Amino acid sequence: MAKTIAGPEIERLIQLLGKLPGLGPRSARRAALHLVKRREQLLRPLGHAMSEAAEHVKVCSNCGNIDTRDPCTICTDPSRDRSTVIVVEDVSDLWALERAKALNAAYHVLGGVLSPLDGVGPDDLTIRRLVERVAEGGIAEIIVAVNATVEGQTTAHYLIDQLDGFDVKITRLAHGVPVGGELDYLDEGTLSAAMRSRTKI
Ligand SMILES: [Zn+2]
Repeated sequence: MAKTIAGPEIERLIQLLGKLPGLGPRSARRAALHLVKRREQLLRPLGHAMSEAAEHVKVCSNCGNIDTRDPCTICTDPSRDRSTVIVVEDVSDLWALERAKALNAAYHVLGGVLSPLDGVGPDDLTIRRLVERVAEGGIAEIIVAVNATVEGQTTAHYLIDQLDGFDVKITRLAHGVPVGGELDYLDEGTLSAAMRSRTKI
């Protein structure tokens, strides 16, 4: 067993911080030290914010977003165009699109992608709820904004099948040259997708 260098409370803090994405054991130690040195300014408020979040966090029963209210802040925002629904895999994608201020629309968070190898089937995602939302009416366009991975594309095709027969326009994000990107550096898949989804200027 590795020798401990601090009391169990601090060791536990380091251990838990080390489970966060992007933090290895070394950066977890650094973060823990940073926190314990700033007990009043940081450690206590962080502990409080975490327990508050743990107390109140919920999954929106309408769209699958994670928030502290159900329906979530986005679903209850009167300024949003609810006739357009952006379908994403995860809340992180929703946050990314919101940061980009791409569209002031509604969302639907699938909670993952179909992946038979990992045992993820349609019932593990919020696909049925999405079909219900479309069936309830008022949605004119579904934008399928899943990742450009094999699983993402399989999920997109499945969704399109499920929504077949509804009077709703289904679109997907364009695949292609990133903003500021140089053609020479792109992989063949991206280049050929960009060529196929060329637009008139
Ligand atoms: Zn919601």
